Amino acid sequence: PETIFSAIPMAPRDPILGITEAFHADPNPHKINLGVGVYYDDNGKVPLLKCVLEAERQMTAQGSPHTYLPIDGLAMYDSAVQKLVFGEDNIALQEKRVATVQSIGGTGALKIGADFLKRFSSNSQVWISDPSWENHRALFEAAGFKVNTYPYYDSVNRGVDFAGMISTLKSLPARSVVVLHACCHNPTGADLSDAQWDEVIEVVQDNKLIPFLDMAYQGFSEGIDSDGKIVRRFARLYSPVLVSSSFSKSFSLYGERVGAFSIVTGNADEAARTLSQLKRIIRTNYSNPPIYGAKIVGTVLNNPELHKMWENELTGMRVRIHEMRHKLVDELNAKSNGQDFSFIIHQNGMFSYSGLTPEQVEKLRKDYSVYIVSTGRICVAALNSHNLDYVANAIAKVL
Ligand code: PLP
Repeated sequence: PETIFSAIPMAPRDPILGITEAFHADPNPHKINLGVGVYYDDNGKVPLLKCVLEAERQMTAQGSPHTYLPIDGLAMYDSAVQKLVFGEDNIALQEKRVATVQSIGGTGALKIGADFLKRFSSNSQVWISDPSWENHRALFEAAGFKVNTYPYYDSVNRGVDFAGMISTLKSLPARSVVVLHACCHNPTGADLSDAQWDEVIEVVQDNKLIPFLDMAYQGFSEGIDSDGKIVRRFARLYSPVLVSSSFSKSFSLYGERVGAFSIVTGNADEAARTLSQLKRIIRTNYSNPPIYGAKIVGTVLNNPELHKMWENELTGMRVRIHEMRHKLVDELNAKSNGQDFSFIIHQNGMFSYSGLTPEQVEKLRKDYSVYIVSTGRICVAALNSHNLDYVANAIAKVL
């Protein structure tokens, strides 16, 4: 029978989740999914961090009731996030001009920021890197913005096309929203150098652009403080800086949806008014955030012993990814008849832009059951000592 929505069209499939569906349907016992954005340990499992388990034990022993959180989230979590993201001695925190709210993962943080911008800078357009995390465009468009790209990846030199990027940023009108990956650029793994960031910060300030720093991988490039340094440098400016941050990867808490949205404002009074507006956005979307994941992260970050345990475990993840990069390069260079893959070592974070073409990606899937995003993005964090040889052999065969 006809219904009011009978003619509803099918929405486009999410490209990455589509890969996972095809992977699950593949009967080949050697199949490997490198399309994901998840860290796996050397046994191919999503780790349960020891610090998380210990925090959960403490929480269970306490036996707290499941009350509502405040609209802006768990206070001890929000303040711990601020210290982690901005650095404890940051002048902006000392001057109490940062407003931070708990969010439903990094994605939820981006959406709170996008809704805030739509309300208070509705004529702005948004600029994302080319390429970028595939959800950036859809998310800002869904919030009502026109979304454009600035040049980012130079596929010939396998690095950042900084000349293209900076000249586009210089051409943007005031109040353009520029989405920047604070570290571990997804999908390319190519980050700006310190000197390049200096130039970007200068253009942002001179042209009165609105920087929106997305930090989903703090700790995966060099370490917590080092990876946070760009956010900290932006935060010294007396102009708005928006920051989305996530603990999905760094705490291996994907499904608990633990993130935060922060805005650096001009002074404490502006921060208080901004916070009131963020609470209004949250209240009308989902009223208030969930407790469990934020309590785990808050418990770990506020306990010196657990905090140290976490940093060690995060270091372990980072080091393992680096090892996989080196091993993959060794294997590929040995097997690929003179092609040099050492660029993979210099990429940051969980991903590598491998340079594989869509045809090669297709062949890898069909002939070897190795699943990679059609752009050639490989999740290095899904490689391990058991599957690396198989993957390297398969790639060498399709080159
Ligand atoms: N931003 C970037 C650049 C990402 O890569 C991701 C996750 O893959 C996110 C945001 C979203 O993170 P979350 O899973 O915490 O929503």
